[in-house]
Amino acid sequence: MMTIAVPSEPENSPRSSTNRGKLQLRGLILGLFVSLWLSVGALQAQSEKAPLQPSLRTRNVILITVDGLRWQEVFGGADVTLMDKDAGGVKDLPALTKRFQRETARESREALMPFFWSTVAQQGIVFGDPEHESKAVVTNGRNFSYPGYSEILCGFADPLIDSNAKKDNVNVTVLEWLKQKPGFDNSVAAFCSWDVFPFIINETRSGIPVNAGWEPLATDAGLNLQEPEAAATLRQLDEVSMEIPRYFPEVRYDFVTFRGAEEFIRVKQPRLIYVSLGETDDWAHAGRYDLYLDSAFRTDDYVRRLWQQLQSMPEYRENTTLILTTDHGRGDNRIDWKNHGEKIEDCEYIWMAVMGPDTPHQIIRGTTVTQSQIAATVAACLGYDYQAAVPRAAAPLPVLP
Ligand SMILES: [Zn+2]
Repeated sequence: MMTIAVPSEPENSPRSSTNRGKLQLRGLILGLFVSLWLSVGALQAQSEKAPLQPSLRTRNVILITVDGLRWQEVFGGADVTLMDKDAGGVKDLPALTKRFQRETARESREALMPFFWSTVAQQGIVFGDPEHESKAVVTNGRNFSYPGYSEILCGFADPLIDSNAKKDNVNVTVLEWLKQKPGFDNSVAAFCSWDVFPFIINETRSGIPVNAGWEPLATDAGLNLQEPEAAATLRQLDEVSMEIPRYFPEVRYDFVTFRGAEEFIRVKQPRLIYVSLGETDDWAHAGRYDLYLDSAFRTDDYVRRLWQQLQSMPEYRENTTLILTTDHGRGDNRIDWKNHGEKIEDCEYIWMAVMGPDTPHQIIRGTTVTQSQIAATVAACLGYDYQAAVPRAAAPLPVLP
């Protein structure tokens, strides 16, 4: 924000009062011109922005995805049929039972994802809850990661995306599309645990900083976090990343992704942030139901911490919308829960949730929504009609008044 300082004279100034009057008048005229110029500028910026609904309060969006977290756990909590050594590779059953198993599904899900159920579901809208005959589905038919993330971020399923190979996405994501809008140029960033994201988001073409996989944070020129406290934190995270065993070569631990995003938000205050967490999927593939649940629980707490951080900052407080979802479901029995894909039944069923100042709480009943609706939802919350520009994209979710 620009402010104009009109020089003030000390009381014992040798200048005559007439001079001071002239000076004040000059300052006043200058001030009028400046404010006229500023408001014309603001009007121009507004007409360029062409908001769908000028009454929206959302100014920022945070999109968070949790890789391969099943709707079964989101809506039902820990699945007791998987809590053993055989099906779930559980190392300490009494400890896991104590942490996550409750009398009812409702209590179990609140134990597993306390922030989601106490805050997101209470204040926002949740999609995919079978109890309410609500379905959220993947439409790409592949039910694995790259096709899912591309569907989420681009707003449509691309049949040509048939692998997780590190190939630059030919499609433009809603992140890249929004980056070209006024006020978004240096205000879009992505923090991702999986190292394929620089390709999914096409970092080279889009110019969006994508910090992903085991890539260092402190030396990432795209992030350019020079503020001393943030730089020190990033260096520490990089040191830990160098020393910790890399159980998943392509996926770093989510706490690094989350802490990086936290610092970036604090210092740079981007208006559109994408945080992509990955451990849930990898622990499931590894057949470790205990660590999968632990990861779901920690992820829920990362979401809570990010949300509380945003609400503690004037740039974000009460003008930020949170969108949460996943890239695919997983199988639904003691073997298939570990996997997903075209050949495993029911992997197209997912979950999603939206919470923000323009999204009044609602229980969704008897509705089917699709993963492809997320992209237009991100844009709509920021006042843009994505579908008008990208006809292949699905309509926004019904989360705005
Ligand atoms: Zn995945």
